[in-house]
Order: sequence, then C-alpha cells, then structure tokens
Amino acid sequence: MPDTIPPAADAPAKNTVVLATRNAGKIAELEALLAGFGVRVIGLDAFPEIGEIEETGRTFAENARLKARTVAQATGLVALADDSGLAVDALSGAPGVYSARYCGENATDATNNAKLLAALAGVPEAQRGCRFISVVAAIAPNGAESLAEGRWEGRVLDAPRGGGGFGYDPLFLDPELGRAAAELAPAEKNARSHRGRALRALLKDWPAFWAKAQARP
Ligand code: IMP
Repeated sequence: MPDTIPPAADAPAKNTVVLATRNAGKIAELEALLAGFGVRVIGLDAFPEIGEIEETGRTFAENARLKARTVAQATGLVALADDSGLAVDALSGAPGVYSARYCGENATDATNNAKLLAALAGVPEAQRGCRFISVVAAIAPNGAESLAEGRWEGRVLDAPRGGGGFGYDPLFLDPELGRAAAELAPAEKNARSHRGRALRALLKDWPAFWAKAQARP
C-alpha cells in the first residue's frame, strides 16, 4: 500500500483557499495580497448555498474564526476570513466590531461615514486618533487553524477625501503619508493596511499551517 493517496482528478489545487466574505472591496484586497504567495483563491460566490454568516462574536478574532470555520465545514476546503473594523479613541473604540453595521442593519458606507462624522463633530484634531484592526483566520476542515492581527494607526478626517477603497477609507488619514486611505492606490494601501499586515503575518506561518491542514482529522 502506498503511504500517500494520490489526489482525485477534481481535487482542488494545492494551496486553494475559499475567501469567507462577499465584501467586494475585501475580496479585491485579499486576492491582490495573496497573489504573490502561490495561494489560489475562490470567492464565496462559488458557493451560493452558503447564506449570510451572522457575526455574533464580541471580538474580531471570534468573528474571523466563526466565519472561517463555517465556510471550511460547508465547503470541505481551507477557508480564510477577515474580521475588521475601525476603532476610534474618542468613541471608546467604537464602531469596532460593529463597523459594518454602525448605522444599523441597512447601513451603507455613506450612512456609516455620515454617522461617524456627526459623532465626532467638534472633536479637535488632537483627539481624533483611530486605528483600523484586522484579524485574519485560516481554518481547515480538519480543524487546523492559524490567526494573525494587523493594525493601521490613523486620524479621522473632518470631511471625506479621495475616491478609492471602501468603507471608512475616505475618512481615514494616514498621518505619515498625509493622505486618506481612499487617496491611495490599491498596492499602496495593501502595503500599509491592517489587512495587509495581518495577512503577511499569517502567510509567514503558512507552510506549517498548510502541513497541519493536510493531516487526517
Ligand atoms: P466585517 O469585517 O465584514 O464585519 O466589516 C468590516 C467593516 O469595517 C467594513 O464594512 C468597513 O465598514 C470597515 N472596514 C474594514 N476594513 C476597512 C478598510 O480597509 N477600509 C475601510 N473600512 C474598512
């Protein structure tokens, strides 16, 4: 008996992962970040039977693990999820894990940004510190998992700037560059962003994680 079983003809290629998100902005960033690492990416749109995954966790890590675990179990593939948000000092860390729904269940980027501007009306520049936080989780169907966090320090602007990115990018100033996240080209943003940092940290341990992901449960 051979001690390794050859993969079935339709087995996913080595290093194929499913991105556990339908957020188009995030998918574009994650695909670009993973492209250089020989990781092939499938979007969640390939699995329409997987419905909305409720983010019931109280931390970014809990939500990232919840999303990745749900998708790994439903697809039988390694899943990669990011949970992220903006933590504003003057709002005691809000909107935090509620960033996507800051303005309620039907929130859009525009309504969330308007609410943030209103919440910080009159708050002076010195007190407008904030950071984007991302926790990225990779989870295999056999339970192997790897987690990493990235942060991007900034200031909340008092008016939107730039036309790129998504979410709170038009209100997030990178003080070292003197530019809003929405004014950065995608590659510039990925080089500095919370998601870029988290993913690069995760990918440092990727070979060890991938070996564990292949082990029999
Ligand atoms: P979730 O991780 O899907 O729960 O949602 C994260 C939310 O945080 C997004 O919908 C955005 O509102 C915000 N967010 C996370 N990362 C970014 C970013 O890179 N730019 C702007 N907003 C972000």
